[in-house]
Amino acid sequence: MLGHDLPQPALQIAKMQNDLVHSLSAIAGNDGVLTGEPAAPYCTDWRGRYSGNALAVVFPSDTQQVAETVKLCAANNVAIVPQGGNTSLCGGSVPLPQGVQIVLNLSRMNQILAVDPDNYTMTVEAGCKLADVRDEAEKNNRFFPLGLTATQKYCEIGGNLSTNAGGINVLRYGNARDLVLGLEVVLPDGRIWNGLRSLRKDNSGYDLKHLFIGAEGTLGIITAAVLKLFPRPQAEATACVAVRDPAAAVSLLAHLRAACGDRISAFEIISRSCLDLVFKHTPATREPFASKHEWIVVTQLADVLPALLDAALRDSLKSFGNGVIEFDITTNKDHAERWWQLRKNISEAQKREGVSIKHDISVPISRIADFIARADAALRNAFPGVRIVAFGHMGDGNIHYNISMPDAAQNETFIARQEGSVNRLVYTAVRELNGSISAEHGLGQLKRDTIRDYKNPLELELMRTIKQALDPQGLMNPGKVL
Ligand SMILES: Cc1cc2nc3c(=O)[nH]c(=O)nc-3n(C[C@H](O)[C@H](O)[C@H](O)COP(=O)(O)OP(=O)(O)OC[C@H]3O[C@@H](n4cnc5c(N)ncnc54)[C@H](O)[C@@H]3O)c2cc1C
Repeated sequence: MLGHDLPQPALQIAKMQNDLVHSLSAIAGNDGVLTGEPAAPYCTDWRGRYSGNALAVVFPSDTQQVAETVKLCAANNVAIVPQGGNTSLCGGSVPLPQGVQIVLNLSRMNQILAVDPDNYTMTVEAGCKLADVRDEAEKNNRFFPLGLTATQKYCEIGGNLSTNAGGINVLRYGNARDLVLGLEVVLPDGRIWNGLRSLRKDNSGYDLKHLFIGAEGTLGIITAAVLKLFPRPQAEATACVAVRDPAAAVSLLAHLRAACGDRISAFEIISRSCLDLVFKHTPATREPFASKHEWIVVTQLADVLPALLDAALRDSLKSFGNGVIEFDITTNKDHAERWWQLRKNISEAQKREGVSIKHDISVPISRIADFIARADAALRNAFPGVRIVAFGHMGDGNIHYNISMPDAAQNETFIARQEGSVNRLVYTAVRELNGSISAEHGLGQLKRDTIRDYKNPLELELMRTIKQALDPQGLMNPGKVL
């Protein structure tokens, strides 16, 4: 038996690799299987932090080929790493350095299968790029709200659903999980579950699709999905708001929701340290106001009716009180984009500045200011001079909270020696506020071990029970999540 965690004599492995590649080619075609050097890019993640080994990278063209590949792997006890656009930030989409595994890349399965404008649904194969799905919706005068501006040209629907992706419009439309009506999944034994229903109501038992959404490829392979579409917004108004502090931003969001309801489609908070990095590393960006502020918010209203959104936004901001220091409003897309560039360029600017210890946490929206105050105080006390880069999806209670030392030489030693202590301080604040240490990017390899200290043991036990029931051989994306 070829257990994926058992050491194999070299010759046996070589023969097995040859036999397996031969059989895989018979399923996916010679041009549907890569080995050796050409396979290498699929074995390293987007940030170059995780690299592993795969016997082969397989590119099936349809669900049947996925099912046959999975059956072959199950018969040979070979593990499978499902892969979409390989933009995972937690090492979820690449193989481990050890073990016998293949990468199963869905990119060839990129057909839009159907658009039903009256049902407000679109059925797509898992390898469709997110940007193509959004474009197709627009061609049909509909809107698909999942938007990952930095990666949507690369990431794929199968990957988006498997990570339950977020983005800036979650506040109004929900996560990827909320945007799906049905799924088709190849199970770890190779059977195909056709749950491609496009029903808005179906109370005929457990809602199985939610097991596979957010499972990071550990329970099966998503091969197609029925996605929810929405009316296409025709009018937008965007505001850049200087707020006194995070607490004022929390109250402002609550105030705007009461005044403008579901028209609020985004509410992002940005700290001074983010702005400084963006101005330093991104040409053509500049302060949104004449004075410098410690915290700004970029928020957007959108509506299908050509409503006077800017007036509604102005009235709401004016009536808020002294937590708002100053604000500016526009309905001009180019003008708004200048503010959005401040938000969109933070990650890239931070990358250019150097390494940092990144966190992607969530707490109840009402506790965000509390989280920032507690974590800031703990870190500044333990590591005087520390740089805290806090920003993110305030409307979802999701803050990206990245830690480094401003001095490059000092930073290297700091990261090497203090990552564990920094994580403990940040995650303690998260736990005290009933939050999650992984709000958006998943667990993958990065947080697989850490989660054991922060998730309820009963929840972990139930997760293991589900994993065991669906994947008793443990072949689906081993070493990730659990
Ligand atoms: C610069 C940058 C910005 C980002 N911004 C955001 C953001 O704002 N919000 C956000 O949520 N994420 C963000 N991400 C993370 C990433 O883009 C998302 O997680 C995305 O949904 C991954 O899609 P993918 O197709 O690249 O999946 P991959 O990276 O290929 O895979 C992700 C996980 O899903 C599994 N998987 C992939 N396809 C399938 C399938 N068909 N069936 C079963 N399992 C599968 C993989 O095994 C892996 O565990 C960002 C990433 C980068 C690099």
